[in-house]
Amino acid sequence: MTAPITQDVLTIPRKLPEGGKANLVGMTRDQMRAALIAAGTPEKQAKMRVGQVWQWVYHWGVRDFDRMSNLAKDYRTLLAENFVLEVPEIVTKQVSEDGTRKYLVRIAGGHEIETVYIPETDRGTLCISSQVGCTLTCSFCHTGTQKLVRNLTAAEIVGQVMLARDDLDEWPTPGAPKDETRLVSNIVLMGMGEPLYNFDNVRDAMKVVMDNEGIALGRRRITLSTSGVVSEIARTAQEIGCLLAVSFHATTDEVRDQLVPINKKWNIATLLDALRDYPGLSNSERITFEYVMLDHVNDSKEDAYRLVELLRGIPAKVNLIPFNEWPGAPYKRSSGNRIHAFADIIYHAGYASPIRTPRGEDIMAACGQLKSATEKQRKSAQKAGA
Ligand code: SAH
Ligand code: SF4
Repeated sequence: MTAPITQDVLTIPRKLPEGGKANLVGMTRDQMRAALIAAGTPEKQAKMRVGQVWQWVYHWGVRDFDRMSNLAKDYRTLLAENFVLEVPEIVTKQVSEDGTRKYLVRIAGGHEIETVYIPETDRGTLCISSQVGCTLTCSFCHTGTQKLVRNLTAAEIVGQVMLARDDLDEWPTPGAPKDETRLVSNIVLMGMGEPLYNFDNVRDAMKVVMDNEGIALGRRRITLSTSGVVSEIARTAQEIGCLLAVSFHATTDEVRDQLVPINKKWNIATLLDALRDYPGLSNSERITFEYVMLDHVNDSKEDAYRLVELLRGIPAKVNLIPFNEWPGAPYKRSSGNRIHAFADIIYHAGYASPIRTPRGEDIMAACGQLKSATEKQRKSAQKAGA
């Protein structure tokens, strides 16, 4: 598809963290309290100080201590001497003809990740990354062809939400009437990486995002997608409380072993047991089963009937994702007829079975395509320079 692309390279320089100063972004309230005390804040005042700083940073989007006007000048100086407020830097932004925005984001160490904003009529979803690369090697996923470089810090995870709000100009203006419409109304942890292999940072970041006196996104507006890291599934409910999506993708262990190799460690039966035990499941809080439609690999009617059997007893919906191709991918997208036939069987068995419309395909921002375009550009730049 050759859709028009607007690409605007942001050149606004952002300060790099200065030597030795801790970044307050990404800290939980408890961590921030300890950091403020260590920097000389009297213990008795610490809780109030956290509340003040928190509101500036996460409610108003202020990242300059000098603008925190309800703090005494001396205290602002103390903060500036000990701390920074840093979010990752947007290197480029691409806007798809369907309005999807893909940010290429640079994090410490010169690594790059991608964050995608998907506007819809009733919501705006931000798809955020949790790792640079991935340790898992799902055969249909482009991120899976890249080795894990490192886990993102909590600051880098929260920072993706903050930089999107910066770009969308979504921080409230003091004095303006309260605006209840949200541009970033939902978050999906469906970008690069396996969030449950970076559990603590993902949890801390989501605590910051959910905090009522800041960004204040409710736990039901956050969906974490896992390839099936069974050992961390119960903790996800207990410690984060968000909704869960599972990259299911196959109905037999034989095929799932090929597509989602973590299945060799935790097979379909083990995964389903863990999902059945996910606390708080109900019809309003269903598990999303993601199912990528790969032509003649996992998309037969028999697969659909088997899937229905497997789901029995689990409040579930099935998100069918037409395969998004990437250069060198070993699969083809299922035909529309096969996808619809599959969806009908699931639907008639009583489960919602929406077919996910690929978004931002013209800018390679669709599921599983992240990083492709960047790598491609880099490779062609290398070739041109060779
Ligand atoms: N690592 C996590 C979250 C990131 S992937 C996980 O695997 O769940 C987000 C979703 O996109 C997953 O369901 C993943 O299986 C799917 N996906 C990956 N590559 C894809 C591709 N090329 N086409 C369509 N969906 C893909
Ligand atoms: Fe990693 Fe998810 Fe891609 Fe699998 S689908 S390689 S777990 S990012």
